[in-house]
Amino acid sequence: MDIVCLDMEGVLVPEIWIAFSKASGIPELSRTTRDEPDYNKLMNWRLGILKEHGLGLDEIQKTIATIDPLPGAREFLDKLRDKTQVIIISDTFTQFAKPLMVKLGMPTLFCNTLEVAPDGEITGFKMRIPDSKLSTVKALQAIGFHTIASGDSYNDLGMIRASKAGFLFKSTDKIKADNPDLPAFEEFDDLYEAIVAALD
Ligand SMILES: [Mg+2]
Repeated sequence: MDIVCLDMEGVLVPEIWIAFSKASGIPELSRTTRDEPDYNKLMNWRLGILKEHGLGLDEIQKTIATIDPLPGAREFLDKLRDKTQVIIISDTFTQFAKPLMVKLGMPTLFCNTLEVAPDGEITGFKMRIPDSKLSTVKALQAIGFHTIASGDSYNDLGMIRASKAGFLFKSTDKIKADNPDLPAFEEFDDLYEAIVAALD
């Protein structure tokens, strides 16, 4: 049985922190793993900035609610979920992704969780498992699924390469050039066709 594993940010929705940085008017928050490769360090730094600006989960979710999925993402997902099972695997946090998942028709999302105090302050975060995309794909395979994966970034390459079919989507020129054997698409229709062709 097939299951499609999709990255979220950069594929279905814009990069949340970059979009949130613009929506909230806090430019420092556009810093990403390209600037600070240590994810824990980066997240703790981001939480510090949010606290400094007095932003709790409510305010953040309200701002994230103003961000829209990428054009065509909802239609693509609806069509794909009509055809097969789909899981979105992301390094983001359930509470941040929620407003965007509502706009995408509440697809299944495997990601991480924020620790939130009763007054709404974000006090920490919990990562579900190390190397979550590859670990999840391997676990799905261990219970009898054939995975088909797609993503845009370095942290997607593991699940893409471990799957029976894998595709880069809206990726960078550098990643495409470094992985010339991986089919790369820019349009949802092309990705949909490739996934459907790979189904059992
Ligand atoms: Mg991504």
